[in-house]
Amino acid sequence: MEGASAVGGDGAAPSSSAANTAADGGGSSAAPPSRYESQKRRDWNTFLQYLRNHKPPLTLARCSGAHVIEFLKYLDQFGKTKVHVAGCPYFGHPNPPAPCACLLKQAWGSLDALIGRLRAAYEENGGRPESNPFGARAVRIYLREVKESQSKARGIPYDKKKRKRTSTVKATAAPTVSSSTLLVAEGGGGGGDASGTITATIPPPTSAV
Ligand SMILES: [Zn+2]
Repeated sequence: MEGASAVGGDGAAPSSSAANTAADGGGSSAAPPSRYESQKRRDWNTFLQYLRNHKPPLTLARCSGAHVIEFLKYLDQFGKTKVHVAGCPYFGHPNPPAPCACLLKQAWGSLDALIGRLRAAYEENGGRPESNPFGARAVRIYLREVKESQSKARGIPYDKKKRKRTSTVKATAAPTVSSSTLLVAEGGGGGGDASGTITATIPPPTSAV
């Protein structure tokens, strides 16, 4: 029967997204990028602040992937990337000739990098990998959906297969740029906030109500 033997099978995700975020800092393994570390600390504090303001109250221990997705949606209000709705005439238009009423959101590349940092921060702050809400399958699925929908809405291919490729180059030399680096770079294509930096101003908790 479906026993308890599979515990940890799903939660223990590969460390690919960790590599992703390391690439975001642009540093090699030799020199730890302090910019990445400070950004990670800022992100972590932002998330803790978000939890403190959460209604109903939410503790880190009870935080699930669904709460993480809620947090990502909350961050959209601070976004700087125009994402056209299906009814907008500029849907799928990478360079609209005129402004439209569509909302600004967080670029997929920013969210992807943010989740990688928070996932690392969670475990550095004593969280167990198997209960890491930032590594939850639901979060991965949500990010993939954001990536695909933004790619369509903005008319920007995020997939490598649609990028121009130099087929004449023979791949004898070792690649110096990993695919994860490419992904991060592409995530901000035209977005403006490609650095993955999320700036969120969270209001202090109000005692009203
Ligand atoms: Zn629009």
